[in-house]
Formats: sequence, C-alpha cells, structure tokens
Amino acid sequence: MDTAILSLAAYQERRLGERFRARAHAALDEWLDRLEAQMTESGSAGPTLMDLTAAVLQERAGLTGGLVEAFIERRYGSYLVQEEAVCPGCRRPLKGRPARARTVETLVGRVALVRPYFYCGACAQGFYPLDEALGLAARSKQWDVQQAGCKLALEMPHERAATLLQELTDAAMSDCVIHEVVQQMGQLEVLQVCPSAADLQERIAQAAVGRKWKPIVVLAIDAAAVPSRPETARGTRPGRKHRRARRRRWQGEYHEAKGFRFYLVDDDRIVQLFSWHQVGDEEAFGAALRQVKDAGLIPEDQVRLCAIADGAPWIWKWVTALFPSARQILDYYHCSSYLHAVAEAQYGDDPARASHWLEATLARLFCGESPGVVWGLQRLQSASEEAAAAIDRALTYLAKRLHQVDYAAHRKGGYPIGSGAIESAHRFIAHVRLKRSGAWWYSENSNAILALRCALYNGTLEQVFQHHRDRQLTATRTVTIS
Ligand SMILES: [Zn+2]
Repeated sequence: MDTAILSLAAYQERRLGERFRARAHAALDEWLDRLEAQMTESGSAGPTLMDLTAAVLQERAGLTGGLVEAFIERRYGSYLVQEEAVCPGCRRPLKGRPARARTVETLVGRVALVRPYFYCGACAQGFYPLDEALGLAARSKQWDVQQAGCKLALEMPHERAATLLQELTDAAMSDCVIHEVVQQMGQLEVLQVCPSAADLQERIAQAAVGRKWKPIVVLAIDAAAVPSRPETARGTRPGRKHRRARRRRWQGEYHEAKGFRFYLVDDDRIVQLFSWHQVGDEEAFGAALRQVKDAGLIPEDQVRLCAIADGAPWIWKWVTALFPSARQILDYYHCSSYLHAVAEAQYGDDPARASHWLEATLARLFCGESPGVVWGLQRLQSASEEAAAAIDRALTYLAKRLHQVDYAAHRKGGYPIGSGAIESAHRFIAHVRLKRSGAWWYSENSNAILALRCALYNGTLEQVFQHHRDRQLTATRTVTIS
C-alpha cells in the first residue's frame, strides 16, 4: 500500500516537473520570437552589439518575470487551487472565494498571480495563503526592489536613485516611494545597527592574538553640522494635498549630528567596530551611548578603552558617566588650536616670532610637558587686550583638562592623540550624503539616512533589511505557514 502511495506521489511530482519545464520552454520560445521580430525590423545594416544587448535588455523582464511565475506554479501549485482553509482566528473551516489577480513588481520584472481568497465573516478577516507563503510585501514593489532603491538612496539624491534604478534593473520606483521606503526602513535604534556582542567580542579576541597587551578600543565622539529645515518649513499650499516646504518663509539652519564611533587600533590600522550618528540633543546622544554600555557591546575587561574628542562639555559628561575607567584624551589638534590663537594674537605682527613660540610650545605639549605649557602661558606679557583674552581662554581651557593632555603617556601606550578617525567617519557617513548644494533636511529624514548609512558601514545593512521585512510580515500575517 505504502509503495502505491509513494509511486502516485512520485508520479504527480514528475508531472508537475514536466509541466514546469514545458511552460518555461514555451515562455522562452515566445520570447525568442519577439526578439527575432525586433531584429528583422532593425534594417539592412545589421544590428551592432549595442543594438542586440539593448533589445535583450528591453525584453528581458518578460522572460524572467514569466520564469518566476512558472517556479511559483511548480512549487506552490496546491496554493493556486486551494479550496479550503482554516480561519487563523477562530479555527472555523472556510471555503475559498473566487481567485483574485495581483501583479507584483520585482527586480526581474512583473509577476502576475491569480490566487484563491479566504474570508471569515465571524472574524471580519480575509487572507491569501499564497501571498503569505511567498512573504509578499504589501506594496506592489517587492522587498528586492525596495532594498535596491534604498541602497541607491543611501548614496545619492532620491531623484537620481529613481532614475538609476529604472535604468539598471527591470523595476521602477518614484523618488516619493523611495523616500517612503527609506523612512520606513530607517526608523532604527542604535542597537539595531550594531553588530552583536558576540561578533564584536570575536573581532576583539582576534586583535589580541599574539599580543602582550590588551587591544586598544577607541571611543571617538564628535558633532557635525547638518543643513536642516526648521519644522516651521512644513506647511500646506492651497489646493495641494501634499505638504511642501515654503522656501521663502524659512531659513536653513545647521543642526548638530552627534555621533560616536568605536574602533580597534591594530598597529597603524583602524578596525571599524560600529558607528552611530543622529541629529539630536545631548540627552538623545547619551541615551544611545547608554544602550551600547548596557548591552555590553564593549567587553571592557578585555580591552584598553580610551575616549577621544574635542573639549565639548557634553561629550565628557557622558564619557565620565558611562565609561568612567576609559582613558580620556583631548584631541591634540583641537587643543593646539588654542595655542595657535595665542600665537596669532600675541605675535601677529611678527610671523617669525609667532611660529618660534608656537613650535616650542607645541613641542612641550606633544612631549607631555603640559605644566610647562601652562607656566609659559602664565608668564607671557600680553601684547594687547586681544592677546590677553586669547591667553586667558587657552589657560582656562587647559586648566580643566590637564588629565587629558598627557600626550607623551598617551603615545607611549599606543593610544591615538588625534580624533581624525571620527572626523572621517562623519565625512563618509554624514557629509557625503547630506551636504549637497540646495539640500536641507528635516531631522526625521536625515536621521533615517544616517541610521541606514551607519548600518552600511557597520556591516549590518542586510540584517536591518531582514528585520524590517520580518516585522512587516509579522504585522500583516494571519496564517501560520507550516
Ligand atoms: Zn474566523
């Protein structure tokens, strides 16, 4: 008996396979006919390679979309003819309603589906088992199209992304839809764009192999200006449904994107661990850094942690609160700018003396003789009121930060003394995409782009896409697929 059932199943399976092949071959034949017809029309001179590839590209979607349809029929045949289902809400048996058509857009062309619909009157709930089995997106643009559009929009303006997507694939999305998708996908918290604690631990352990000292992990913090639209720029124009910024009534502002980057120093190489940048206030910054701390992403007992930044008080407030044992390093170049200002004000009319004083003072600073630098500043006879003010500013600045400026000790320990690595992080995460002529951003929009670009450089973008897809599917799912 068992053998008979098995061979029947095998027979049906073979029939399905044959039908699939026949359908695919028929689609290919039709496709070749269309292509041949095009070639005959192309005139006596004969097509160039460019003509040939253009013709294939133009017709490609018809074939590849059709192949996907054939695959679906092959794999999900039973869903296409399903007559009964069980309501996922009340477990009542349901009869299928007449099949309905839906066309979805993918990177390889349109895919047409005609599939049964089930509706439970008691639960007022309808569903398509095939859509759920295939994990279809609610929009007609499927996940592959959405992700491709999003990736392009992370590198270039939305309009340009829309054009390139259409030119390079068999899918199209308007710049408005790309914007919507980026906004949906970019609603992220810091931990969602960070690698896992286990992953980070693994990278840190690798850096420690064969070393006498624990590896150095640097926490670099900085703020960068993002050209921003004030909320008052929002408004509705009469007769228009969509809100548009009223250009004349508002003035662009620069808002601070505050960011941190954790990286490993491995000899002279920087190994990225993760970055997080958002436009927001210092409380939001602190909350994000606290999440990183609480999640234990940095195994503090296995590394030598240092924090490097300029003198902004909000930065050091959070470093001290959350990573009290981290070695604090004041960015050397930022610190030296105060001494540049003194040289300029004190010896502005004598460039040779100015540079002589500056070189000597910077050499002291670099060699860790900060008390000597302070002493030198104190005994300077100020040449003018302006010079007195510059000296005073430098002294006040240094006095509060003497514990952060022992550059000789920092260098001896192998720690960095310049925050170039965070500035370059800001350049490639924020500036490259956000600072374009004429581009002014609402914070919610710049933050979505920033979060996704952080994911890109943290190596977690695919994971972010996956989570987004899972969340959306769970929200719309009614049937459990076995
Ligand atoms: Zn029901």
